[in-house]
Amino acid sequence: MHYDVIVIGMGAFGAATLYQLAQRGVRVAGIDKFSPPHDQGSSHGDTRITRQAIGEGAAYVPLALNAHRIWRELEARSGVPLLETCGMLMLSDSRVAARGHGTADFAGQTAALAQRFGIAHELLDAAAIAQRFPQFTGYGPHALGYYEPGAGYVRPERAIEVQLQLARQAGADLFPNRPATSIASFAGGVQVHTAAGTLTANRVISCAGMWSAGLLGGPLQQLLKVCRQKLYWFELDEPQRFAADAPVYILFDGDTDSCYGFPPIPGENAIKIATEAYTDICDPDQLDRSISQADADAMYERHVAGRLAGVSRRLLKSKVCTYTITPDFNFLIDEHPELPGVTMVSACSGHGFKHSAAVGEALAMRYCGDSRAADLSAFSLIAKSGR
Ligand SMILES: Cc1cc2nc3c(=O)[nH]c(=O)nc-3n(C[C@H](O)[C@H](O)[C@H](O)COP(=O)(O)OP(=O)(O)OC[C@H]3O[C@@H](n4cnc5c(N)ncnc54)[C@H](O)[C@@H]3O)c2cc1C
Repeated sequence: MHYDVIVIGMGAFGAATLYQLAQRGVRVAGIDKFSPPHDQGSSHGDTRITRQAIGEGAAYVPLALNAHRIWRELEARSGVPLLETCGMLMLSDSRVAARGHGTADFAGQTAALAQRFGIAHELLDAAAIAQRFPQFTGYGPHALGYYEPGAGYVRPERAIEVQLQLARQAGADLFPNRPATSIASFAGGVQVHTAAGTLTANRVISCAGMWSAGLLGGPLQQLLKVCRQKLYWFELDEPQRFAADAPVYILFDGDTDSCYGFPPIPGENAIKIATEAYTDICDPDQLDRSISQADADAMYERHVAGRLAGVSRRLLKSKVCTYTITPDFNFLIDEHPELPGVTMVSACSGHGFKHSAAVGEALAMRYCGDSRAADLSAFSLIAKSGR
């Protein structure tokens, strides 16, 4: 079979790219080693924070704003709720610049970008935080709050499913449970080899998540690191403290430690909470997916007890997931230097989901020669080597 484009990986970025290409009448196929949405990659666990003022850098703000528009369009087309704008509260100590995702002063940069892009937000002092968000109890008189009402969370599994369904309806051929074993460029395009045969296309867009370095080799082997992350759902003793208008939260503790979490999703009586781990580097095919009671107890003691009111230590659920991170925590989206016709999309570093719908659109517009495509040059190999 010969296609215009083959998308490898039908997770966050692959599903978005497939949907956007298929809408534009491109003859496209998607292949995946599993059957997405699944819980083997980086896009599971019910919720992903989305923000509009993006502390990771100005290049991300237009993508995030665009993605919010696309999530709403997808909701209108599918009838499936995807984006919950419950607001986001970021708490830090006003005396300390807290580092996050490669940014030296994450809260400060977020507020500055909100100002620059005209994104609605409020800066709160300790008294205002205590009055409006009494469930967050761990901060003293120097607390600083950044509240963004248009932020919230996206439902990752649903978003992937909806985009794949719409892609299929628009004519995309989807091949789940079909791992690509190798890729080769030739004069007429690109070959994608699988155990069930070879597909060819004019272009391949590879969105293979944590398996990207293994599949594509080249510079990715030096640049990408896969880090194991643990997610915890603790049952609520006092659900009223995390009622419908409770925000998602990013809580900085000192200059490097942090955790983030979510209010309960409809039908659940638990908050999901997690930290970010950069030292637990793993092989994607040997990932330890277990979480012990001792892990849960340590998480509760360090980040929940005395900090989040009304949350019990009863663990209802836990999951292991992975960040695929680059040295500067920025995305890597570029042509493969050794495989002509292959676009590498590695856009995780722990903050990719919120942008995935917009990156998919930009890649599809670029393929179709649409000059209005969002500029992704900030994520090129050259940008990376220059930073
Ligand atoms: C715990 C956790 C919390 C996060 N929190 C946030 C957040 O709050 N906000 C946010 O914006 N982002 C967040 N992220 C990041 C975000 O979830 C990721 O950036 C995004 O999901 C990555 O999508 P992806 O398409 O690159 O990978 P995936 O969704 O994992 O997709 C990769 C796909 O490629 C397939 N594949 C791999 N190899 C092959 C092959 N050889 N052949 C065929 N198919 C293949 C896999 O099966 C998989 O389906 C978080 C990530 C984690 C792990």
